[in-house]
Amino acid sequence: MPADMVSTGYGMPAVCPRHGRAGGATRPTKLSIYSRPPIWVYLLILLSLLIAVIVLIALRKTVKTSSWPACDTCRQVRRRNLTRMWACLIGWIPLTALGLAVDSSGMLGIALLFALPLVGFVLGTLGSWGSIVKAKVTADGGSVELPTPHPDFVAALPPVPPTSGWPSAPAPSIGTGGAPPRAANVVIPPWEQN
Ligand SMILES: [Zn+2]
Repeated sequence: MPADMVSTGYGMPAVCPRHGRAGGATRPTKLSIYSRPPIWVYLLILLSLLIAVIVLIALRKTVKTSSWPACDTCRQVRRRNLTRMWACLIGWIPLTALGLAVDSSGMLGIALLFALPLVGFVLGTLGSWGSIVKAKVTADGGSVELPTPHPDFVAALPPVPPTSGWPSAPAPSIGTGGAPPRAANVVIPPWEQN
């Protein structure tokens, strides 16, 4: 899909690209789609996580849209995963303390100490729009790719992607300079006729 189509929403089907369900257009979703980072950025993590993150943000292409046709199933997946993520994070300290109190060996407490943030992080990732939508911006930033679009979404796409035939305002008529054009059928008043 052309990036312009995604960002403006013009020509985007009113069908969820993931589930093929209608209804996303009534409450379109605002989200950002990013390009896949080059593999060598992951090697930078070995040097420094901060440098890797800075390079990643500097290199990535972003397509922002406020008209993504995400359906209710998408929204439910997101809400469910984010709710569980918060449950993990809020319960982190109390459950770890409870685990330490219940299990005198301390193993349960230590397991909860490390497992809860990790599970919370995974749930947060699953609940992110990037994970639900699974769309990626191409390296040149000109298109948005969907790895496994729903057939109903594909069927609803415009036959010709509106890349070149973008609807633009008609070119303003530019005067050729000189005197403004005069109407041909100017009636000359009798008193000016000699
Ligand atoms: Zn959906």
